[in-house]
Amino acid sequence: MFTNKNQEEVEKPREHCAVFGVTCDDETYSISRFLYLGLISQQHRGQESTGISVLKTGGSIVTYKDKGLVSKVLDDHVLSNIWGNVGIGHNRYATTGSQEFGSPDYMQPLHFKNNEIEFSLAFNGTIPNYAEIKQDLEDSGRIFVTNTDTEVVAQLIATIALKTKSWPEILKTASTSLDGSYSLLILNAQGAIYAIRDPLGFKPLCLGELHTEQRNYYIVSSESCGIDVLGGKLIRDVEPGEVVHLSHRKGLHSEIMVKSDRTALCQFEFVYFARPDSVVDGVSVAQVRRQLGINLAKKDPLLNDPKFKENAIVVPVPDSGRSVAVGYAYEANLPYVEGLMKNRYVWRTFIMPGQKRREAAVKEKLNPIKAFVEGKNVIILDDSIVRGTTTTKIINLIREAGAISVNVRISCPPVIRPCYMGIDFPTTSELIAGNFKERYGDDNYIEEIRKQIGADSLRYQTIEDLIAAIGKKRNQLCLACLTGEYPLKSVNKIIEMERAISSDRV
Ligand code: SF4
Repeated sequence: MFTNKNQEEVEKPREHCAVFGVTCDDETYSISRFLYLGLISQQHRGQESTGISVLKTGGSIVTYKDKGLVSKVLDDHVLSNIWGNVGIGHNRYATTGSQEFGSPDYMQPLHFKNNEIEFSLAFNGTIPNYAEIKQDLEDSGRIFVTNTDTEVVAQLIATIALKTKSWPEILKTASTSLDGSYSLLILNAQGAIYAIRDPLGFKPLCLGELHTEQRNYYIVSSESCGIDVLGGKLIRDVEPGEVVHLSHRKGLHSEIMVKSDRTALCQFEFVYFARPDSVVDGVSVAQVRRQLGINLAKKDPLLNDPKFKENAIVVPVPDSGRSVAVGYAYEANLPYVEGLMKNRYVWRTFIMPGQKRREAAVKEKLNPIKAFVEGKNVIILDDSIVRGTTTTKIINLIREAGAISVNVRISCPPVIRPCYMGIDFPTTSELIAGNFKERYGDDNYIEEIRKQIGADSLRYQTIEDLIAAIGKKRNQLCLACLTGEYPLKSVNKIIEMERAISSDRV
């Protein structure tokens, strides 16, 4: 969703949310604890607030949400009292510092109720053309209480529902107006869950089932790890442009709302966002990361130097560099060493204000193990470089701990452009690769980044190798932050407007 981002604070790209839903055919049973498990397994997709909306068949929707982690918000008391056999949940990432962050109006699920319609909505994504839709809705008399695109989606649905009571029809009509990246769940007052994925399928969304002797469940989750944690079986992914109706009585029903000649699954799901044990659109995240490491090792000229290799170790930046480092170490036939200790109790260094404070925070979070790195040629594996601040600090720490050389290998190709599809990235000038590419040109910018971060050598994944590791076609993936080619019309319109404004200023 769109929020007041404080871009200075972003050091790593941030996912915005996770969604999760369950239906159970036993109307005397409560699925609230299942929602808890599904959300906690996807805590990595959003840590600022969490919430659930639950309904007992024949009853009304009850919603509970608050700031904080799943384990804090959904305590025993809440789970015992929010009771029903159908429900949806949501983890939200939003930038701390946005003024509205603490307001429940900005947390999800968004429980919408007026004289005509009641439903609850859990939304993961961004609608770049939301301002236009909002204007049209306001012109027709709708009153908004937030400035989020989530509320725009809810108000759009409520407006369309004035003309038809058919939910598939409502959602089909809504999807023709929404030009964005989204996976969303709707729980309606009749106890049906609708799972919808945007026509290009930017965000993951998958379906699962669980059958026990007593009960049958259908599950929908941003990531398949949410299905695994319940002991469920992954059925399939929701297709781009598809709406799936999960009914606790009648099973699954599907309809394709919009067909597109391409898809645009976010490549960063494989590089960084998704949990390694998840399977996204039929592809194992861990296997992709391992292959990215193998690719880097296969093309690494340093590995042709026997003297360098004698003392070399492969060190992941925890946690996201691990699977990549395993692949690299395997292919290079070098020791994999956990040479950086991560303090799990310090999190969100990216929210710390000021460059000095952020640099100090890296030390609080990561500490090199001197006994492992001293006297070694260290090859560090990380997923991406955004601003370069954290990478510079890590290199310094490892050097100070006595490494002979520090060599950086990045599993993602250079990130040169911001994301307009819901991922929190800095602007082009704040992205080290974007900025340096413009300043030094295609042939020189990687070497200039190497000098800037203080590495002995630096190599990135190529876009072709990334695509091959994911095993999809180029036109099935979003690569916009790597290429500058955006797959949404509304984004291209925004970029044109931004260009026009900046050329006016010049
Ligand atoms: S621009 Fe990058 S981060 Fe954004 S959706 Fe596309 S691939 Fe993902």
